[in-house]
Amino acid sequence: MKLILLGAPGAGKGTQAEVICKHLGIPAISTGNILREALKSGTEMGLKAKAFMDAGQLVPDEIVIGIIKDRLAEEDCKNGFILDGFPRTIPQAEALDASGVVIDRVIDIEVPDEKIVTRMSGRRVCEKCGATYHLLYKKPKAEGVCDICGGTLIQRKDDHPDTVKARLEVYHKETEPLIAHYKKQGVVKRVDGQEEVADTTRLTLAALEA
Ligand code: AMP
Repeated sequence: MKLILLGAPGAGKGTQAEVICKHLGIPAISTGNILREALKSGTEMGLKAKAFMDAGQLVPDEIVIGIIKDRLAEEDCKNGFILDGFPRTIPQAEALDASGVVIDRVIDIEVPDEKIVTRMSGRRVCEKCGATYHLLYKKPKAEGVCDICGGTLIQRKDDHPDTVKARLEVYHKETEPLIAHYKKQGVVKRVDGQEEVADTTRLTLAALEA
């Protein structure tokens, strides 16, 4: 199955992508994660992307389209994949269409903006191993310290409240029109993001079956 998860940043796409990955045995591909890895390893692409990411803006289409084309050509994508965070603009979706990839389903996870701001502002990440936490929903055992590796928990620059607001604006302007793009292909299922992750997961898995 070839799947796209759509939704505002912080709607829970990453978490649901991991669940579906285990459920269906297909890889979850996150352009945000690939870009962060590139940044960590100091590649030219990562350095180019950094300023855009820190400001909550989108990285130019040609960079992310290149990333996705390379990734989808890998062997593990042969039987399907889950795209989390791509496409994010109409030109990205058109590039995917033009490459001959036929998407079976688009799951649109809807969460109101006010909830997104609370969720994302509370997000913390381990600077050493990348594990994620939340000040309200997934507290570490000791404040500011990673349960897994003892690393320091930090707030990603793009999770700062002002950046979150900028990212939401970009989402409404650039990414939301993709819902109409994929509705034309008759593949969109809407899921209302719930307070409890497990409830969203139940609805997401049901949307895969229907
Ligand atoms: P994410 O973790 O998916 O929220 O992505 C983090 C950041 O990476 C975004 O705010 C963008 O700056 C960049 N990014 C990730 N995916 C894309 C994409 N498909 N198009 C443009 N920029 C992206």
